[in-house]
Amino acid sequence: MPLILDVAHGHPAQETLARSSADLLASNAAVSGKTALIGLNRAQLGETLTKAGVPERELRMRVAQLWSWLYVRGAADFAPMTNISKATRAVFDDAFSLERPEIAAEQVSNDGTRKWLLRLKPSRPGETPPEVEAVYIPEADRGTLCVSSQVGCTLNCTFCHTGTQALVRNLTAGEITGQIMVARDRIGDWPGAEAQDKRGLPDADRKITNIVLMGMGEPLYNFDNVSQAMALASDPDGLSLSKRRITLSTSGVVPEIPRAGAEMGVMLAISLHAVRDDLRDVLVPINRKWPIAELLAACRAYPGLSNARRITFEYVMLKGVNDSIAEAKELVRLLAGIPAKINLIPFNPWPGAPYECSEWEQIEHFAEVVNRAGYASPIRTPRGRDIMAACGQLKSSSEKLKASLRGSTLHA
Ligand code: SAH
Ligand code: SF4
Repeated sequence: MPLILDVAHGHPAQETLARSSADLLASNAAVSGKTALIGLNRAQLGETLTKAGVPERELRMRVAQLWSWLYVRGAADFAPMTNISKATRAVFDDAFSLERPEIAAEQVSNDGTRKWLLRLKPSRPGETPPEVEAVYIPEADRGTLCVSSQVGCTLNCTFCHTGTQALVRNLTAGEITGQIMVARDRIGDWPGAEAQDKRGLPDADRKITNIVLMGMGEPLYNFDNVSQAMALASDPDGLSLSKRRITLSTSGVVPEIPRAGAEMGVMLAISLHAVRDDLRDVLVPINRKWPIAELLAACRAYPGLSNARRITFEYVMLKGVNDSIAEAKELVRLLAGIPAKINLIPFNPWPGAPYECSEWEQIEHFAEVVNRAGYASPIRTPRGRDIMAACGQLKSSSEKLKASLRGSTLHA
């Protein structure tokens, strides 16, 4: 029977699973002999260069040079770094790697949506490399990258495919940032670069304009690494995405919501999906720990909310389960006073799923009620369904590493 356990900060299981960039450095060094640079912030890059023998007087300049090559130009090796002497480049090449997660598979949907299955480095020798997915959704004038934060998920929302896969481990900051780098490599989103396959790409300078943490995993259970990766993604002298265009979606890890507001400053999306605790307890079982009233109180207190900075409430449309007009009215009542957008998500089926998607007409009726109450209520058009890239369809075949963790600390 599924069992939800507390893996909040400080819980021993969480500590075992969390991997800092330092861990990644150590593990990558163990595997490839080189230190991975992707995912390091400026201070860590400085420390890494110092350890490699870069003299103090050169440090600032070297950090600035590498930073720009890594995060502005997207360099994948040291050869193009012509403002660094050949001899120094050779030293760097010996000591460091600019490797991204390896692309195990790439699928391009008829609508231009791309899904990458990414193979990560084992965190210890002998481990089967875990895999995660990232999805890119192009539109005419913008492009959204959906990023994973964990391999699998500790939670088991009953309508979510990822929820059927037990947590393998948290992603490192480098692996989260690496998803952005890989996507930009593949769609030619670096200065002067071009995509090999241009199908469906937006007609804009920047091909990735938005990031959503809506892939595999619960981002607030991997707080520090997600936070570091989003700081890198929004660095104005680096990957330079606007924080207002980064959205973190949470199932409702209430104690971490104020911290996310204070430390990350990104936009928030809440996977609400039900207006009553008895139903949300089933659909989003974390609700048993932090029920709707507590979740909404945390939303009301989220910093910086205004009509221009609204919280997105995600609501998956499940036929005959949560899609009645009475529930639409209750939704409007519950959200009163919160600057909100309501995102109605047609349920994306997956093999063996116990739900069906609501009838289209019902979704439209539901949307109308919400709309009339003054909330924008876009119905999310399913994208990339033909390649199983739509919300909730992501699942990698990575198995959990330690069977011993399965029974005792995570859901079976
Ligand atoms: N763990 C986080 C983020 C990842 S899930 C969270 O739960 O918010 C991203 C979004 O996809 C969530 O709103 C989730 O509820 C939704 N989702 C999951 N499975 C889905 C499915 N089969 N069809 C439609 N949306 C789904
Ligand atoms: Fe995890 Fe989010 Fe899926 Fe729930 S919906 S199982 S929290 S990934």
